[in-house]
Amino acid sequence: MAITEHVDLSKFMAGLQKRNPGQPEFVQAVQEVAEDIFEFIKDKSVYHEYQILRRLAEPDRVISFRVCWEDDEGNIRVQRGWRVQNNNAIGPYKGGIRFHSAVDESTLKFLAFEQTFKNALTGLPMGGAKGGANFNPRGKSDHEVMRFCQSFMTELYRHVGADVDVPAGDIGVGAREIGYMFGQHKRITNSFTGVLTGKGVEYGGSLIRTEATGYGTGYFLADMLKTRGLQLDGHTVVISGSGNVAIHAAEKITQLGGLVVTLSDSGGFIHDPKGIDAGKLAWVKSQKTRKRGRISDYVREFPEAEFIAGRPPWCVPCDIAVPCATQNELTGDDARVLLGNGCLAVAEGSNMPCTLEAAHLFKAAEILYAPGKAANAGGVAVSGLEISQNVARMSWKQNEVEQLLVGIMSEIHDRCVEYGRRAGTNHIDYVRGANVAGFKKVADAMLAFGVV
Ligand code: NDP
Repeated sequence: MAITEHVDLSKFMAGLQKRNPGQPEFVQAVQEVAEDIFEFIKDKSVYHEYQILRRLAEPDRVISFRVCWEDDEGNIRVQRGWRVQNNNAIGPYKGGIRFHSAVDESTLKFLAFEQTFKNALTGLPMGGAKGGANFNPRGKSDHEVMRFCQSFMTELYRHVGADVDVPAGDIGVGAREIGYMFGQHKRITNSFTGVLTGKGVEYGGSLIRTEATGYGTGYFLADMLKTRGLQLDGHTVVISGSGNVAIHAAEKITQLGGLVVTLSDSGGFIHDPKGIDAGKLAWVKSQKTRKRGRISDYVREFPEAEFIAGRPPWCVPCDIAVPCATQNELTGDDARVLLGNGCLAVAEGSNMPCTLEAAHLFKAAEILYAPGKAANAGGVAVSGLEISQNVARMSWKQNEVEQLLVGIMSEIHDRCVEYGRRAGTNHIDYVRGANVAGFKKVADAMLAFGVV
């Protein structure tokens, strides 16, 4: 085959930007990966010749569709739904579904791209995808959410399947939404298959799946601290978000000895200097899941805490920061404040929470900095285990699944160390390690298939 001319990073990014106008999140996610991959492949021409990164940054397909539903007042509402199937070189597509008013193609393309590397890092056979709709379940009645989910699945079912593409939850999609979508898929196809993960345990879900992303982030953080001879014990931890990932990250970090002092939502954050212990977290969990309350309610129940409206929690002095809300929630200015306050570790529970500037600052400061594709991979890992249980028609016990999760997180950590240790030093660049380890696995599978 003819040797393709090697392009440099800036030319590669200029081309990507031109082909994806108005998609800044997608361009940002590719840039973050490309910075490390260009360095890794500079002496490996086969990856250049076969245009691996160029192909990975072009989704296999982007499916976009109309979702009509009727609200409780009888109005016909129209939303837009998507499924972005990025790459299935190492297994069926896998990745969550997000319902949020800000969902657009750029966000889902970035998430599907990231998911490809994350899934590879778990060591399980899963390709990368992401989907969603610009629908916000907040403030909608259960019946409205049900009608929306049914309408969404009435189109999505054509593109998914246990051996094709297995979606899960994400922002705005929890147990309730998965139940409605699974029920509609079962009705339309007259089949009971593991087409979604994050299912209720009564109908094929895995124990620990709900907790897995946050728990996995806690385990990964503990593994990172160990490389510097540290433990979570005695360290103050600032967490953003108060959804699935934030609550379970807080739970595991507290169990491992950390003092979690903040949680947040899009309205602001609460600061509880005494710590959000297991009892307080149980209260937050029940408010958020059953009553779908706001984090500001916390201060009415626990008056020693304060609520700060309209700001993220990064100004609170801490040893460790764990962003668990959404993308680009931690800016360069926030990073400077955290570093100024002596923050020694950042573990990303959410996907791409740090802007490129913030990520560069953490890398330059050589603190322990874990990207989401490594630190939050526990969720998709247990989704992979849910698929295995569905295929075997078995349900594993809670401690069996959690032990597997611990093992997978520690293997992801090992892979990051293998590819991320900075030459001649003890410093581990977890971003580089995760990018290179994930890339290598997918790239080598793509090479085996030739040009397809
Ligand atoms: P949830 O919907 O359960 O919770 C999201 C939380 O983030 C809420 O507290 C929400 O507040 C807050 N939030 C959302 N948007 C904003 C914003 N623009 N500004 C401030 N706060 C915001 O979602 P998850 O916990 O499931 O997901 C959180 C993150 O983790 C996402 O990045 C997701 O992609 C990632 N992730 C999730 C996995 C999972 O298994 N669920 C797996 C891997 C990654 P509000 O209610 O006010 O909107």
